[in-house]
Amino acid sequence: MPHRDAHDVLVIGAGASGLAAATALHAAGRDTLCLEARDRIGGRLLSVPAQHPERALDLGATWFWDGEERVRTLVARSGIATFGQHLAGDTLLQEATGVRRLAGNLLDVPSRRFAAGAQRLATTLAAALPGHTLRLNTPVTAIRPDGDGPLAVRTPAGTLYARHLVLAVPPALAAERIDFGGALPSDLVRLARATPVWMGAVAKVVAHYPTPFWRRDGLAGAAFSRTGPLQEIHDMSGPSGEPAALFGFAPARTLGVGAGEAVTTQLARLFGPAAAAPEALHVQNWSAERWTSPSTVQHLEDYALFGHPLYQQPALDGRLHWASTETATEYAGHIEGALAAGERAARSVLAAREGTDGPATGLSRASDAG
Ligand SMILES: Cc1cc2nc3c(=O)[nH]c(=O)nc-3n(C[C@H](O)[C@H](O)[C@H](O)COP(=O)(O)OP(=O)(O)OC[C@H]3O[C@@H](n4cnc5c(N)ncnc54)[C@H](O)[C@@H]3O)c2cc1C
Repeated sequence: MPHRDAHDVLVIGAGASGLAAATALHAAGRDTLCLEARDRIGGRLLSVPAQHPERALDLGATWFWDGEERVRTLVARSGIATFGQHLAGDTLLQEATGVRRLAGNLLDVPSRRFAAGAQRLATTLAAALPGHTLRLNTPVTAIRPDGDGPLAVRTPAGTLYARHLVLAVPPALAAERIDFGGALPSDLVRLARATPVWMGAVAKVVAHYPTPFWRRDGLAGAAFSRTGPLQEIHDMSGPSGEPAALFGFAPARTLGVGAGEAVTTQLARLFGPAAAAPEALHVQNWSAERWTSPSTVQHLEDYALFGHPLYQQPALDGRLHWASTETATEYAGHIEGALAAGERAARSVLAAREGTDGPATGLSRASDAG
């Protein structure tokens, strides 16, 4: 009989939530494999190098805040370097009639940043897992119950089997890209299709400069704009201002061809001529990311669906467990919510195994081998 690629648990997605789930399941001794569609881990944690070995520029998540205990604990436990968001200085307001300077920083609140970029959280979690726990370039295309036995998970590289699945992918993306063959209840499918993807309809633009020149003029690097293309702008410089950077958000649908020039023109209007020529300009359109956003992402706006009760219970006879920040009941949308959702999914898997699971007939169980 041919060898079946079988595991106790398959985690689909190696973003913060999938890696948190895989970490907890591995710690509990479960044979866990994490399948990731992209050629990298981190999902919406994405940091690019910035001409400094221990610094990076964040094209996805940037901050964490007081009260986010999971992030704080992970950072402290793993020795990840963090620093406070730059706050000092005045705010700019851009209107059709011109630019106004407002006293103090009216946009940023106290928060912390990751010195080597937010993706460091993902690489730190992954580094603590055995190497064979992660498979990159492995998009899941279909999930099928295989009788009363394991679930069959199809990928372009072949079919895998598992007793439990953790779906650590934005629900609307899963509903669009993964074929469940009609096995999911219709209310769950409707919910998943309607659940927004946090920041999925947004473009983040990062302008990297030789120095944080705006600070010399007493500016915080913070700006609101009623004209765009960027609607809000923040200082995204590293510790002690290096690397120097500003970043802004724009609705992705408003950024067309030539967005780069429109952005640098806007930045120069706000912060002066030095802003017109960044050393590098990164335009990260998250709505065009195949493994983040479904085609409907611009139309999904009902954020009250985040953390919906249906996501708190497993589907497919107790075998499919939801993760992803969108399913979290607290801090949904944030990294903290992703970690919370991953941990909850892992607890749900472990509870099911302790309670109702029978022996793993026909499955190879690495966790039982020793
Ligand atoms: C521009 C931007 C700014 C943000 N700013 C902040 C911030 O400052 N602070 C904060 O706390 N949060 C912020 N966030 C949100 C934060 O990034 C997310 O909450 C968090 O990273 C989500 O993690 P996740 O694991 O739930 O999902 P994701 O990171 O989306 O991970 C899902 C993973 O699944 C993979 N995948 C998708 N489909 C499949 C498939 N079919 N098969 C296999 N793998 C698949 C994806 O490639 C991805 O790696 C921001 C997000 C963005 C985009």
